[in-house]
Amino acid sequence: MKNPNAKFQTRAIHFGYDAKEFHGSLNPPLYMTSTFAFDNVQQGSDAFEGENSHYIYSRLGTPSQALLEQRMASLEGGEAALATASGMGAITSTLWSLVQPGDEVIADITLYGCTFSFLEHGLKKFGVQITYCDLTKAENLSKAISDKTKVVFAETPANPNMRLINIKALAEITKNTEAKLVIDNTYCTPYLQRPLEHGADLVVHSATKYLGGHGDLIAGFVIGDAETLETVRYFGLKDMTGAVISAMDISLILRGLKTLHVRMDRHCENAKKIATYLHNHEKISTVYFPGLPDFEYHDLAKSQMDQFGGMIAFEVKGDRQTGAQLINQLEMILCAVSLGDTETLIQHPASMTHSTYSEEELEAHLISPTLIRLSVGLEDVGDIIADLEQSLAKL
Ligand SMILES: *Cc1c(COP(=O)(O)O)cnc(C)c1O
Repeated sequence: MKNPNAKFQTRAIHFGYDAKEFHGSLNPPLYMTSTFAFDNVQQGSDAFEGENSHYIYSRLGTPSQALLEQRMASLEGGEAALATASGMGAITSTLWSLVQPGDEVIADITLYGCTFSFLEHGLKKFGVQITYCDLTKAENLSKAISDKTKVVFAETPANPNMRLINIKALAEITKNTEAKLVIDNTYCTPYLQRPLEHGADLVVHSATKYLGGHGDLIAGFVIGDAETLETVRYFGLKDMTGAVISAMDISLILRGLKTLHVRMDRHCENAKKIATYLHNHEKISTVYFPGLPDFEYHDLAKSQMDQFGGMIAFEVKGDRQTGAQLINQLEMILCAVSLGDTETLIQHPASMTHSTYSEEELEAHLISPTLIRLSVGLEDVGDIIADLEQSLAKL
């Protein structure tokens, strides 16, 4: 791209690609190949030694993957990016690269179910100490951090209870230590929040969600400085997880990124209306949404996020069964995990996405057993509200 000051929307569509170099093809060609042929043994040997930039084998990258990674690095404001086979592939490839036995990971108390499971049942087994801290209060990190801490990990807003973490406050604490601050930015995407601008060291994503945006793929990203990303690519991913993204998913995410800003604007607009509707409903006890003025983290949301996102959590008056009834009676809204799709999706975290937590763990990690999570889609907002209304009326 010639214009170095091009805005987010323009970079999401054009960054890193010039149609003139590829027969005018509007969309970049897709390299659907496992391996790359060398002119001779010497060239192959030099490629393995890093003495030329010849592609070798698709576990290490392809030209299509490089384009996607450059574009994503630009959108997040990082030096480099790595695309992976899933969000978990991104998280595990990153953490396997940063820790060894005896080290410590400090994580916020609320985490996506499989991230929690990876730390609790995976890394811990290999002698890595896992410490959970309420990172909504930065002073808790000051107290907990030590020479052993190599990673500080948080989601903001956190999945599923929407707690917000002050990235800048945590970065102030980690910047003079060996610990890397890793932020899971899945809920926001770089269109709404760019953690690196606030001092985070690395950003991870489940691209399965808003970045792909259409519920037709599973993928992930890590973004950060080139040196760390090289380690994550050539050790964490190549040797430890092998979580390689497929060519077809690269193509689908490049396509998803082109409409990211348009989709996010509408997700945010719809979510704000639905959160207000739920907030005013007599059968709803609590709504957790960054855009509500009386939400605990509203001010932080305004300073850290460009808009309030498309995710809502709420609780119905009654018990776990009342919440299940609300979900079961819906006619259009689908009962499904995942999020960030064009379809509105609803689910019960304690039974589904966060079922890897025991009852005691749910309580300790502030995941209410009656919490309901709503991923607001792109349907007509009146139709979404009408569906919620007919189900709530029957409770
Ligand atoms: C879905 C999700 C993940 C895991 O991503 P996958 O693509 O399903 O592997 C990680 N973090 C958050 C916040 C998520 O929502």
